Amino acid sequence: MQIGCPTEVKAQEFRVGLTPNAAREAVAQGHDVLIQSGAGLGAGFEDADYTAAGARIVPGAEEVFAEAEMIVKVKEPQPAERAMLREGQLLFTYLHLAPDPGQTEDLLRSGATCIAYETVTDARGGLPLLAPMSEVAGRLAPQMGAWALQKANGGRGVLMGGVPGVGPANVVVVGGGNVGTHAARIAAGMGAEVTVLDRSLPRLRYLDDVFGTTFRNRYSTEGALAELLAEADMVIGAVLIPGAAAPKLVSRAMLADMKPGAVLVDVAIDQGGCFETSHATTHDDPVYEVDGIQHYCVANMPGAVPRTSTIALGNATLPFILALADKGWRTACAEDPHLRAGLNVHAGRLTNLAVGEALGRDA
Ligand code: NAD
Repeated sequence: MQIGCPTEVKAQEFRVGLTPNAAREAVAQGHDVLIQSGAGLGAGFEDADYTAAGARIVPGAEEVFAEAEMIVKVKEPQPAERAMLREGQLLFTYLHLAPDPGQTEDLLRSGATCIAYETVTDARGGLPLLAPMSEVAGRLAPQMGAWALQKANGGRGVLMGGVPGVGPANVVVVGGGNVGTHAARIAAGMGAEVTVLDRSLPRLRYLDDVFGTTFRNRYSTEGALAELLAEADMVIGAVLIPGAAAPKLVSRAMLADMKPGAVLVDVAIDQGGCFETSHATTHDDPVYEVDGIQHYCVANMPGAVPRTSTIALGNATLPFILALADKGWRTACAEDPHLRAGLNVHAGRLTNLAVGEALGRDA
């Protein structure tokens, strides 16, 4: 199959859909890989790395879209890219169609077959192509929070690990799922004293079994959170209620009980945020202050580390890319219901029930 990978054109996007190693595997299986010149630069991959992997470099996105049978990307196609999609072509990327009727219309009109990373499932009920980005955001959260805690950045001037004779930072992680577990591990690894809150007892039992005394955990109630907030130097928001906006667990009034210069890192900002005072920020200007409390609320945290994020995403997408290229999408989806769950659009029709419901259309 002809597999094509264009340069991402969405603002502030530096990831790339195919790594040189992924290209090498596809080529080894007899596929033809086309890479737009410069597509990998934002993630630190040169054209020469792709050429060495056996891929072919083409000058522009036009050539990629014209020649490739399958387009592999990261972000949802932008209007100029949608205009180049054609009937019978396969698109494999993040789409997030539910809140985006304009994109949905264009994809339906294109006649292409579109498989969305975010709705591919796994045998444990997880979302394997979202998980790597939660891992990245979770591990980045204490790193960014530690930066914001520094005095020059508006924080209260506390070092995560303390030093001999001086206690460490106190970190509270709200939500002990994918993001929260990775955040807690890194914060604990930096030497902080960490408590994770979750509403799921099975999840708390799992955290206790796996992490023992590395960090503490508590059942999440308003009272427990209020007690912990008073002592916290950093609070990381990592809750998710599937299909719903994040619950506002920390109100503006509760900020008054926190230590001045403490930091809130709201990873759940892409679902509206779990602190009342959160609003989305960007990597260019990530932190703002409300009532003496620093807020870091970047909605696209993995974008800060595009090399790690690209490789992590590529590790998760590669088996699906190879299955689609080897078997064609019909057979690959027929054999794997989890990949089938990713199918959102085919030949002018919506093919995902949840997406159809969100858009108020038949699927
Ligand atoms: P997840 O489903 O793995 O974990 C969410 C956890 O929140 C679950 O364990 C759940 O029991 C818990 N929870 C629900 N209500 C709670 C409450 N009231 N108190 C405490 N815990 C509660 O989800 P995840 O993959 O960890 O993602 C968490 C959030 O991070 C999501 O909103 C996701 O979209 C977001 N995210 C943001 C970025 C970013 O760049 N900002 C990147 C990746 C993920």
